[in-house]
Amino acid sequence: MGKTPDFASSLHTELFIDGQFVRGEGEAEKVLNPATGELLVEVPEASYEQIHRAVLAANRAFDSWGDSTPQERSRALLKMADAVEANAEAFARVESLNCGKPYPRALEDEIPAIADCFRYFAGAVRNMHGPLAGEYLAGHTSMIRRDPIGVVGSIAPWNYPLMMAAWKIAPALAAGNTVVLKPSEQTPLSSLLLARVVADVLPKGVFNVVCGRGASVGQPLVEHPLVRMVSLTGDVATGRKILQAATGTLKRTHLELGGKAPVIVFDDADIDAVVEGIRTFGYYNAGQDCTAACRLYAGSRVYDRLVADLSSAVKTIKMGTQDEAGVELGPLISDRQRDRVASFVERAQMVGHMEITAGGKMRAGGGFFYEPTVIAGARQDDEIVRREVFGPVVSVTRFSDPDEAITWANDSDYGLASSVWTQDVGRALKVARKLQYGCTWINTHFMLVNEMPHGGLKHSGYGKDMSMYALEDYTVARHVMAKL
Ligand code: NAD
Repeated sequence: MGKTPDFASSLHTELFIDGQFVRGEGEAEKVLNPATGELLVEVPEASYEQIHRAVLAANRAFDSWGDSTPQERSRALLKMADAVEANAEAFARVESLNCGKPYPRALEDEIPAIADCFRYFAGAVRNMHGPLAGEYLAGHTSMIRRDPIGVVGSIAPWNYPLMMAAWKIAPALAAGNTVVLKPSEQTPLSSLLLARVVADVLPKGVFNVVCGRGASVGQPLVEHPLVRMVSLTGDVATGRKILQAATGTLKRTHLELGGKAPVIVFDDADIDAVVEGIRTFGYYNAGQDCTAACRLYAGSRVYDRLVADLSSAVKTIKMGTQDEAGVELGPLISDRQRDRVASFVERAQMVGHMEITAGGKMRAGGGFFYEPTVIAGARQDDEIVRREVFGPVVSVTRFSDPDEAITWANDSDYGLASSVWTQDVGRALKVARKLQYGCTWINTHFMLVNEMPHGGLKHSGYGKDMSMYALEDYTVARHVMAKL
C-alpha cells in the first residue's frame, strides 16, 4: 500500500483485472477537465474478452473470499480505508480535476466519507446477525445463514465517482462477494487510482476495474452469466436497460436512480435557515446530485420573502475552477450536460408565468459552467418541476393549503429524498410520514451518514446503499435445518 506522491503519478489509465494492471484493448475514451474542456488523459476501454477475464477472475476469487471470516474481510476493509486516507490529496485532486468540483469539497467532504464507508462496513459485517436458531418442527433445529451472492457487477455514475463506487464496493466485499467495478466512462480516474492503492490489500481477483461506455462494457457485464448481482447508480433510463439486460440470467439488481427532491417550506419556517440550506444543498456539486434540494414549495405567506432572499443569496455563490480561492460552484460534467441544463431553463423562460430571479445563463469562455439559477412562479405541471435537471437550478412554487403541498410533493415519478421546514415538530413528523420518499429531512437537507440507509421508491429505484440494509442487500438468506 504505497502513498501516492504527486498528482501526475495519480493519473492511471490501466484496467485492473485479476490483480494485474492491463491496458484496455478497446476504443480510447477521452477524459476531460470540465473546468477547461481540456483533455486530461485517454483511457482505453475493456474489450469483451477483458470483461470476461475480469468476471472469471472474480468468480475464482469468490471461492476463498466468500469463505473467509468476517474478521478477515473486516481487516482488509480497514486497510482500504487507510489507503484512501493515506492518499487523500491525490484522490481529491483526481476527483476535482475530473469532475470540476472545488478541491476543498473533494478533500474535506468526499474523501473522509469514503474512508468512513469502508470502516463502517468493516465493523458492520462483524455485527450482522440473523434471527436466532429455533425449533419450528418438532425434533428439528432451523438456522438462517446470510451468505454472499457471488460476483457483483457495480456500475457507477460520474457525479461522485469514488463515493458512489465505495457505497457499492464496501458492503459487497464486506459480505464476502467479489466485485467487477465499471466506473463512468467520463470519470474513471479515481476508481483506477483506488485499484492502485489497494492492489496489495485484497487477494487477486477479489476486486477488478473495467472501464468503458455503458453499451460496450456495462451491458456485457450485466449480461454475463457468472455475474450474480448488478448494482447501479445512474439514470432511470439506464436502470430500465439494466433490468432488461438482467432478465436473461435472472440476476439480482440493485438500482439507485434519479431524484427530484421536494422541499416543503411552511409559513412558520425559519426563512433565514431555509435560504442558507437551499443556497448550499440546492447547488452543491453544481446541483448534480440525486438528492439536490431543487423543487421548492413555499407557503403563500413566506413565498415572496423566500424568493427574494434566496435569489439574493444565490447571486453570491462563487463559481469557478477547482483551485480558485473560495469557490463554491464548479462546472457541469460536460458540454452536453451544460446544454441540457440550459435548454431546461430556456423552455421555462418561454412559459409566461415563470421568472428567472437569479442566474439563467451559461458562462462564456472555456469550461462547462452554468450560473446558479432560481426560477420563481413555477407550477406543478411545469417541466422544470417534474423532470430531473441535474444542474444548479432550483424552482419555487407557491402553495396555500398544506395538504396541497404534500400532494404536489408526492406527485412525482421519483421517490428518493425530500425535506420539510417548519418550527412545529408535530407537523414535521406527520408530513414526513406522508411523504413517499426514501428519506425525509426536517429543517435540513442532504446530510447522509453511513449508519443510515439511502435509497429510493418508485422510479428512483430500489435497494439501499449504506447501513446494515445495504449489507443485507448484498447477501442471500439461507435456511439450514437439522434433524436432531
Ligand atoms: P448514467 O445512467 O448515464 O450512467 C451511470 C452508469 O451506467 C455509467 O457507468 C454508464 O456507463 C453506465 N451505463 C449506461 N448505460 C448502460 C447500459 N446499457 N448497461 C450498463 N451500464 C450502463 O448516469 P450518470 O449520467 O452517470 O449519472 C447521473 C444519474 O445518476 C442521475 O439520474 C442521478 O439522479 C443518478 N444518481 C442517483 C443516485 C442515487 O443514490 N439514487 C446517486 C447519484 C446519481
